[in-house]
Order: sequence, then structure tokens, then C-alpha cells
Amino acid sequence: MTTLFTNVQIFDGTAQATRAGSVLVDGETIARIAYAPETIVPDHATRVIDGAGRTLMPGMVEAHTHLTWASSVEKIYHAFILPPDELEIAATRNARVLLDHGFTSLWSAGALGDGIEPRLAARIAAGETPGGRLIPSTLERSPEGDDGVDTGDVFNGRGPEAMRAFMAYCAAQGVKAVKLVISGESALKPRSHTQILYTPEEMDAAREAAQAHGLAISCHAYTDEAVDLALRAGARIIYHASYISDAMVARLAALKDSVFYGPGCGVSVAALEASPPPHIDMSAMKASAAERMDLERVLVPKLKAAGVRVLIGGDYGFPFNPNGRNARDLAHFVDHFGFSPVEALAAATGLGGALTGQRVGQLREGWLADLLLVDGDPTADVAILQDANRLSAIMLGGVFHKLTLPAATPATTH
Ligand SMILES: [Zn+2]
Repeated sequence: MTTLFTNVQIFDGTAQATRAGSVLVDGETIARIAYAPETIVPDHATRVIDGAGRTLMPGMVEAHTHLTWASSVEKIYHAFILPPDELEIAATRNARVLLDHGFTSLWSAGALGDGIEPRLAARIAAGETPGGRLIPSTLERSPEGDDGVDTGDVFNGRGPEAMRAFMAYCAAQGVKAVKLVISGESALKPRSHTQILYTPEEMDAAREAAQAHGLAISCHAYTDEAVDLALRAGARIIYHASYISDAMVARLAALKDSVFYGPGCGVSVAALEASPPPHIDMSAMKASAAERMDLERVLVPKLKAAGVRVLIGGDYGFPFNPNGRNARDLAHFVDHFGFSPVEALAAATGLGGALTGQRVGQLREGWLADLLLVDGDPTADVAILQDANRLSAIMLGGVFHKLTLPAATPATTH
């Protein structure tokens, strides 16, 4: 099946302005891109979609996904830990909710149950349930006795041997990205962000084992010491890093071709906005969020200026920050971190795609046809991506998940 989008403004996933043109999709890939005045002449079997000036862009990549953090724009859960069967249902729903909102690739930053995400990723890949391309993870790992983030993990013993056993266990489960919680979390336990939960020996073991099993490592790290450990473990992406020094910024800049960074600001902004009922105490979370946003407003522009690849994704899945609102991160990048709309879009598409290592996130010939047809110009205002009704079409691997415009073939119209 071939599909031709005509009369569209093309945003290609890099930090460049849109250009008018047309795009031909053949099977699961982008076969041809023609910029005006060049055109593509469809054959008789090609379905043609007149974009009428809409923007055609790559599907978005959520670089810090928590599908098992159950709450979404469709259903709010007031318990964080759900029974296993309900957790599986919520994760399945959330994959579809994120796709409905334009996210065609999902890099998991940890799950609340073992096996759920590898199973879900397989079901999505098989076309059994709708969702973006999921890089699955498992329980976020923090060592026994440390309560920075309570994962309930049974594989949380100390020492290199325990780390190697955890990595082998993740690989056997089908996990692709392992999440290591290196710093404590002040939002959950006040002032714990300076706490360090691992030893250098454990990080060395993590690096070796991850390489042996072909696993990527994602790290929750706030301080220089924590980011140093994350780099020692060979982390592919580092989250937060709010408290790092200029010296560490320089170190990350030197590693800009191998490591990604995600501030995870969505949850901070949402925590500051939240007005919970009196019996829910969010004061520690709000204080932590305010402090981090103040630091990140200075830090993130520095990292960007140094060439570090900064990605969207912000711990969506809490009742006050539900899954499905993930595109808010783009506006946060513009409002708080000095990104231009086009730079925020590139972070959400091309750079996120690079994280996954798949041919996604850019509109390029031969790359996977994960596409959004947007009613409006997100390069002028990224906030329009928060409105799923503005997504006139959502295509994943050449197949429409959503299409609100008529499709005609030359054979039927002439
Ligand atoms: Zn997270």
C-alpha cells in the first residue's frame, strides 16, 4: 500500500523550518520526499491525502515513559501501586493513549511490575494492541535498604554480583533499557537527592553486564557524584541532573555524541500547578520541584548550548500529571529553557529518535513512516500539539492509527 501526502508543510525532525512539499509512503517506510516546486505523481493504487497546508512531521518520541504509572487523561487512579492485572490493563491503555496524542516511540524509564512492558512491547509489535514502538524496561532498581525510590524490587542486593544477576534477569525478561536509580529522590523523601545509592564497583558491573546482554542503561541522577557514576555505568540517557556543576556540564558536552539528557520537567511543572485536596500533602514535592526548576532554567540552556542532546519526557502518570499530556514538555522547553519552537520539536522527534537507535524521529527517505499530520503550524506554536483533535492523521509504520481526512486514489477520482 502506498500513501501520498500532498500540499503539506514538511517538518523533517531536525531544527530546520518547514518547507512545502509532498511525501510518499510505501509499505512501512518513507519512499520519497519532494519539496515544492517538485511534485510526486501518484500511480493508480496510491491513496492521496490532500493536507491542505497542514504540517507533516515525524511522530513524537517520549524519552522518559512510565506506562505503568497508571493515571492518564482518560482514567485517573488514586493508588500508585495497582494489582498486577489492573497494572497490565493500565499500561496497555496508556500505550494507546500516548499514540492517540502523537507519541509513536516510547523509551521506558521504568515499570512498576516485572515482565509487563516486554509483554506489551511484543503485543504492540505484533499489532495486537495499539501503541508506539516501545523500548521496554522493568522495575527501577535501587539497592536494598535505600529508600530513595521504593521499587519493591527483589533483585536489589548489594555488590557487583547482585548487579550482574539483575542485568541477566532483565535481559531474560526481554527488557531493552534498564533503569538505575542512582540518586535519592527529594520529591519523595526531603533532601535525599544528595544520597548516592550505588558504589563504583556496582556501576562497573552494570556496564559490563549491560554490554554483554545488549542492554541500554537509563539513570536517575541529580548530582555530580551521581552523574559520574551514571557515566561509569555507560548510561545512554541521564535524567534530571539538576544539581550538577559547570565542570560536569563540560564533561557531558565532551560525551555529547554518546549520551543523552532528559530534564524530566513535566512532573515539576505539574507539581507546582497542582492544587491537591487537604488530605494529600504535596509540600515536599512542590518544594523539590520549585528548587529543581530554578536550577534547570539555568542548567538546561547551558547543556543545549554545549551541544548535549536534550530530550522531552517528564514522568507522566501521576494523577496530577497524567499520561497523555506528554506534549506539554515541548511548551515547557520553550517557556522555561529558551528553546525555539523548532528546537523543541527537534528534541521531541529527531533527537528522541536517535536515542532509540531506530530509523524514527526524522522525515527521511528510507526511514520508518511514523508521521503526524497536524492541523496548524507547531513550528509557530508547539502548544497546539497538546490538542489531540489537531492531529488530523497519525501513521505508525505506514499504517494509519487515525485519519480524519478523506483519502482518494487517482483511479477513483478520474
Ligand atoms: Zn521517571
